Amino acid sequence: MVKERKYYDLLEVPEDASESDLKKAYRKKALRLHPDKGGDPELFKEVTHAYEVLSDPQKRSVYDARGEAGLSESGGMGGMDPQDLFSQLFGGGGGFFGGPSRGPSGPRKSKDLVHRVHVSLEDLYKGKTTKLALTRNVICAKCNGKGGKEGAVRSCTSCSGRGIKVTLRQMGPMIQQLQQPCDECSGTGEFINHKDKCKTCNGKKTVSEKKMLEVHIDKGMKGGQTITFRGESDQSPGVVPGDVIIVVEEKPHDRFKRTDNNLYTEVELDLLTALGGGSFAIRHLDDRALVINLVPGEIIKHDEVKVITGQGMPSQRHHEFGDLFVKFSVKFPDHIDPEKVHFLEQALPPRKAIEKFPKNIALEEADLDMIDPRKQDYMGGGDAMDEDEGEPRVQCANQ
Ligand SMILES: [Zn+2]
Ligand SMILES: [Zn+2]
Repeated sequence: MVKERKYYDLLEVPEDASESDLKKAYRKKALRLHPDKGGDPELFKEVTHAYEVLSDPQKRSVYDARGEAGLSESGGMGGMDPQDLFSQLFGGGGGFFGGPSRGPSGPRKSKDLVHRVHVSLEDLYKGKTTKLALTRNVICAKCNGKGGKEGAVRSCTSCSGRGIKVTLRQMGPMIQQLQQPCDECSGTGEFINHKDKCKTCNGKKTVSEKKMLEVHIDKGMKGGQTITFRGESDQSPGVVPGDVIIVVEEKPHDRFKRTDNNLYTEVELDLLTALGGGSFAIRHLDDRALVINLVPGEIIKHDEVKVITGQGMPSQRHHEFGDLFVKFSVKFPDHIDPEKVHFLEQALPPRKAIEKFPKNIALEEADLDMIDPRKQDYMGGGDAMDEDEGEPRVQCANQ
């Protein structure tokens, strides 16, 4: 039983609708409600929001259990731009309804600025605020984005204000039409007399400005997630500024690998600790080290994987921790005093007896030597050979 039905009602789907049911329902509604098709923008937004929530299994479960209130408690995503979700779903950016980026009626939007930040696993574990210096164009405050005094801006006579010039070129029997940006007005279609130009922006209407953005890397964020600063992209007269989109990239870590909220690490144990117990420590991503005391009598095997529950990465919204998986490699000593072997014989299970062969098999003693990598090719694990070229390979001749 779900707590609220509103989102399901908006999409006109049952509470147990599958992901593809939702997608289908949203497509149908969105096509009808899209503002470019004369639909109600508010309703379009609501339907889009409903789809955004229900199509995300995590958000859907929160909504089912606690309704809209639950979503806002868990600090919602701040909402995706319905237009973005829409174009994501229907593929491609604008152009679906034949218009430029925002459809024929909507205002033009300047390009989004995408910036990648590479964040260490430590910072994703603890959370961090970093400052990002951004250089962008803003409307010139001196001339209010007019480029000059009132009336100084005139339509470029060279291109009749179109910003492009068409030249005809004769190529044999054919006449070729070439379109080029007008060189008189640099394609702007406007012309300002040099003396009338705004001194601050030199008639360009915008000036470049440096701005510091505070980027909050939340605990538990993952590579590929984005942080959006709405309307912080380049400004230009008559154009809605686009967004600055920060893409979080996770830097590789030398001791930990991450999968979702779980961490993986490798620990090398000496043979005595692996067999006889002892302690080892794992330096964590914050200012702690986890100390693990092995119970005497418990054996850690080579390549064995164990888990430390709750010591993985925090989840972003609720800060619930994943687990830390530990893969052991056991370091064997190179040599052991033959006099002490009897201690091992006392402690370990008895040796396995030599295999019994049929009578017709002759037993012959052989020596075990070290491998000389320059002369012998050890085909470990049956893997494909590496691609060394030129060197002839020694092949096992016993096949
Ligand atoms: Zn100016
Ligand atoms: Zn021109």
